[in-house]
Amino acid sequence: MIRVAGLSFAYHSGPAVLRDVSFEVEVGESVGIVGPNGAGKTTLLLCLAGVLPVPPGRIRIGHLDPGVSGDRHLLPEHLGLIFQNSDDQLIHPTVEEDVAFGPLNLGWPESVVRQHVTEAIQRTGLHGLENRVPWQLSGGEKRRAALAGVFAMRPEVLLLDEPSMFLDPRARKDLIRLLNEWPGIKLIAGHDLDLVWQTCRRTILLDAGAIIADAPSEILLSRADLLEPCGLEVPFRLRLGLSCSRDGQT
Ligand code: ADP
Repeated sequence: MIRVAGLSFAYHSGPAVLRDVSFEVEVGESVGIVGPNGAGKTTLLLCLAGVLPVPPGRIRIGHLDPGVSGDRHLLPEHLGLIFQNSDDQLIHPTVEEDVAFGPLNLGWPESVVRQHVTEAIQRTGLHGLENRVPWQLSGGEKRRAALAGVFAMRPEVLLLDEPSMFLDPRARKDLIRLLNEWPGIKLIAGHDLDLVWQTCRRTILLDAGAIIADAPSEILLSRADLLEPCGLEVPFRLRLGLSCSRDGQT
């Protein structure tokens, strides 16, 4: 479903930020993309989402190539991106309008949009907050509103950049549950390795723009010898052997 083959990327004429990155993701897989600050995680997600210019032939999202301009505008129907900071994503006067924006933009009939918006609001537990001003919501509610906007488009692929940033423990727990309930492909970038452990069976370790390891999460996330040189630590739950907390992940 996702294929990345020999992807390198540099901003303007700067140094390479991604170096010969290759991996594939199958339908239904959830994959953590972990690495220290500056490793290239956000850049990789932005390349996959067609936000940054990549050469043709390096990335496939299903039958679409983000490097081909004719394919790029079709991506939002298949792929949803959740930004680090939900304030960057919530721009409309009410939660409902924000959630409806994506589906309306895809040109779907109003009745279909209404049905998808209602379902996304229910799924994310935002019922009752539809008419609230998004930027007055709590951090957890904002994250759920951003997720609802993406869920409403029913993409096959979700890209999430540091999704637990700014969340308190309860909101983070809600987020983990929502992610584990979502059936599509998920790529979850960040350095919250405990969240990755609870949501992804596979993890890719990125450092200085290159893939250092790509392995089942239980193997990679217990490798202190790989994680510590990247400034990361074996997640607490994994150290304690709390494997039961992974129920529901794909
Ligand atoms: P991560 O998400 O792993 O923290 P990023 O993808 O944000 O890493 O950044 C990777 C590298 O690219 C960093 O060195 C960062 O300074 C650089 N970078 C990110 N965005 C830009 C930009 N818009 N222009 C120039 N350099 C950038």
